[in-house]
Amino acid sequence: MKYISTRNNSKEHSFEEVFIKGLADDGGLFIPKEIKKYTQEELNSLSELSYQDLAKKIIYPFIGDFMSESELSLIIDKSYSTFRKKNVVDLIKLGDTKVLELFHGPTLAFKDVAMQLLGNFYEFYLSKNSKNINIIVATSGDTGAAAIDAIKGKKNVNIFVLHPHNKVSPVQRKIMSTVKENNVFNIAIEGNFDDCQNLVKAMFADKDFSNSINMSGVNSINWARIIAQAVYYFYTYFLIKDKKSINFSVPTGNFGDVYAGYLSKKMGLPINKLIVATNKNDILHRAISTGKYEVETVFETNSPSMDIQVASNFERLIYDLNDFDDIETKDVMIKIKDEGKYIFAKNRLEKIRKDFLSESMNEEEVIETIRNIYNKYKVILDPHTAIGLGALNKINIEGDNIVLATAHPCKFPDAIDKSISIKPSLPSELQYIMDKKEYYDIVPNNVSKTKQYIKDKLK
Ligand SMILES: *Cc1c(COP(=O)(O)O)cnc(C)c1O
Repeated sequence: MKYISTRNNSKEHSFEEVFIKGLADDGGLFIPKEIKKYTQEELNSLSELSYQDLAKKIIYPFIGDFMSESELSLIIDKSYSTFRKKNVVDLIKLGDTKVLELFHGPTLAFKDVAMQLLGNFYEFYLSKNSKNINIIVATSGDTGAAAIDAIKGKKNVNIFVLHPHNKVSPVQRKIMSTVKENNVFNIAIEGNFDDCQNLVKAMFADKDFSNSINMSGVNSINWARIIAQAVYYFYTYFLIKDKKSINFSVPTGNFGDVYAGYLSKKMGLPINKLIVATNKNDILHRAISTGKYEVETVFETNSPSMDIQVASNFERLIYDLNDFDDIETKDVMIKIKDEGKYIFAKNRLEKIRKDFLSESMNEEEVIETIRNIYNKYKVILDPHTAIGLGALNKINIEGDNIVLATAHPCKFPDAIDKSISIKPSLPSELQYIMDKKEYYDIVPNNVSKTKQYIKDKLK
């Protein structure tokens, strides 16, 4: 499969380049030049596979020039052997709604599903290239943990994780900071998540710096993550027998996870609607409901992994809305950057709404949803998952409705305690982090200071 950038579709790229670079040199996002669309017959032939075998079938066409099918097979089995569920994910029922639990990996959030695979992709790549790579990633709490677990102890690769100081939950921080391997560096930035993200972008844009350290990224724009996430949409679809119309409600920040659902739909999976569920940082809900994409300041909420204003992956959808016009996509993205807003024409908004609906949830509603669900079913939802469920209930759509459960509730004990006066316990495998020594440094929200920190560590 060949890839192009959303800002230049005449130049082709290999999967290896897409994976290692993350972001295209022209500032655009990588997407496949063409996407394989499954027929109903082909879908049927996939419907009985185990999660791992399905992942092999779905992912291979995207990466065929990077490794052989048998190499991928070994890597997938290895990646998912770290999960607490044999089938990686679990689908549970809450009344008429189904909840897809994606948090049974080592760091208790859905991001493990993609990141465990990426860690092994790096190992594979570095076993064939004599290079040292430095992964630099911004996190609102979960990406960093998942990336650290996937990379720790691997040869010829270091990982630097920037998290917003005091703005991730203590459990989120401890999962990252108690890791002792010497290729792992935690940096607490004095700023918010968007500041962390901007620092990483600025370091990538500085070619002298980024080339000098072989900088690589694993943030949610990395295409490898998207394809790994598409797998659970297929898997869930096949789990549901006597299907009506299938809707997924997805707690959304950077538009990565829900974009993976959209990709699955483009690949022929008959999904009806994808519900973009946001917290009070509702830029995507405002864009989808009114056509106005307008950047506001970031609020801190009880669902910190979604406290984001600029939804990086949205550019991939904008490219489709612009009828695959790279020049126009570039113009739109520059306008958004310069003016902080963009208004979608009516026909484009209609196009968005063919696939997406949206809702947002305020903090009170999140607390109430956790309480209602606990009282009714004795199931504790984490605040992000509660947003997915609450948004779905607000929209009130017919069909088979599936909410993506993106994190284990124990990662956000304050919200749970506030809601139902219970402190959710960590799975026994992770209990040890609570009183282990933490390793992280506090760095000002400043590009040159951050670069200097990284250079010093690499000496
Ligand atoms: C990252 C994250 C999200 C948002 O996912 P995106 O792909 O950025 O939209 C939602 N919930 C949790 C728990 C997360 O960690």
